[in-house]
Amino acid sequence: MSRVLIVGGGPAGLSVAITLAQKNVACVVVEKSCWPRDKVCGEGLMPTGVHFLQKYNIDKNLPEDGYYPFAGIRYLDGNIIAQAHFKSGDGFGIRRLHLSNALLQTARGFSCVEIREKTQLQSFSRDEIGIDAVLSCAGNSLNERFSVIIGADGLRSKVKKIAGLEGRAPGKQKRWGGRQHFAVTPWSPYVEIRWRKGIEAYVTPSGENRVEIAFLWEREKLKPRKKDWFGSLLELFPDLYEKVRDCKELSKAQGIGPLAVGCSSAVDDRIILIGDAQVYLDGITGEGISMAFEQAEIVSEELPQLLIDDRLQKKDLQVLAKKFKKPVRRYVLLTRLALLLTRYPVLRRGAMRSLSRSSTCFQHFLESNMGAKPLWYFPLFSSWQLLWGLLVPKRITDVSSSFINEKRDLIGPNYKEDKCRHTLTDSKAI
Ligand SMILES: Cc1cc2nc3c(=O)[nH]c(=O)nc-3n(C[C@H](O)[C@H](O)[C@H](O)COP(=O)(O)OP(=O)(O)OC[C@H]3O[C@@H](n4cnc5c(N)ncnc54)[C@H](O)[C@@H]3O)c2cc1C
Repeated sequence: MSRVLIVGGGPAGLSVAITLAQKNVACVVVEKSCWPRDKVCGEGLMPTGVHFLQKYNIDKNLPEDGYYPFAGIRYLDGNIIAQAHFKSGDGFGIRRLHLSNALLQTARGFSCVEIREKTQLQSFSRDEIGIDAVLSCAGNSLNERFSVIIGADGLRSKVKKIAGLEGRAPGKQKRWGGRQHFAVTPWSPYVEIRWRKGIEAYVTPSGENRVEIAFLWEREKLKPRKKDWFGSLLELFPDLYEKVRDCKELSKAQGIGPLAVGCSSAVDDRIILIGDAQVYLDGITGEGISMAFEQAEIVSEELPQLLIDDRLQKKDLQVLAKKFKKPVRRYVLLTRLALLLTRYPVLRRGAMRSLSRSSTCFQHFLESNMGAKPLWYFPLFSSWQLLWGLLVPKRITDVSSSFINEKRDLIGPNYKEDKCRHTLTDSKAI
């Protein structure tokens, strides 16, 4: 019987186990560490990712305080504010530990999925009819035979390395990410993004009384203090610092980098790479987890039949590589555009000024980022607003009173209970 080895129990590995299990494909998921898995992440799941959780009933395994819906994205740049809500539903701010646990519980619900923690892939060798994998667990090595290996083992993928699939990263900037959680009631129904020279701060509401602050920065341009490195980054954003400085820390500050990785091919003989193991550029567009989910669905559309026919050579798996290209191209294009804005403050300020008056255009970029709409379906009719914004941008003082209303209207106890769409429509409503 065909068996699939999935290396890595992060969002990519567990989601592909779930989608394949739906098609009765027998899988073994190995995770070198223990579940639930934490990871440095902005923890903002875009609406397409939320739809995936709902489609596979993964959301049922999220604890009530494990997540918090958000309506859209808000950029704060100096005194300019640009914001738009998602058209395709709410995003979820989800604590990674809770997402990991929900995915794990769902995967465990399938009898054809075997879950092994503290088990690491050491090496593998391939022949015409299968793969011999060497797995190590508690100091013991064991050899097992599989039909195919799915490498979902993150940025420093061992599967990619052993298969000789390492390739050029889609970007040259050496960016790092870091995050910490604070006990504070979310003050905004948006994921907020603030910019400073060489760094952005992301604020994601992820529980009734929990907010995550994440930073992305270029190490060559900005060196955090060695002692209390997270605090030194927080001080660059005085308003944020003020909001959380007296709040209880709910997690240890953690960082990761450099972030950009690529591969020479997403498939090889009996090998498939997904998630960060395949390609990753940056967290700036908040798309990593949703893209991993999209890839998991692509694998489950094609792999079951290929397994039945034992057509698992590189040329047979190209059908997958071809399908992966669309979401990856979209992700890389929009992430590169966003990175341009971080590099060139003049460009960024111009873009922020323009978007501040055109929530329709901003919304269009958000939908394109998720693949819900093609980028080139640009709403031309509202483009004049971009020009209007460039000349007369919307300033924070214009909306300061609405911050209080948002808090009262949207962060009330009923807000999460009905999990309904936010009443706030867009910046025009303010
Ligand atoms: C600062 C930052 C902010 C981000 N913000 C967002 C965001 O807001 N929204 C979003 O959607 N995405 C975001 N991302 C991206 C997101 O975190 C990743 O895209 C996502 O975690 C990818 O999942 P994965 O399963 O591919 O990899 P991972 O989550 O890294 O999981 C890989 C797993 O493989 C295991 N593993 C590794 N090697 C082996 C081995 N040899 N044997 C067995 N197991 C192994 C690891 O222990 C790990 O559990 C952000 C990333 C960063 C760095």
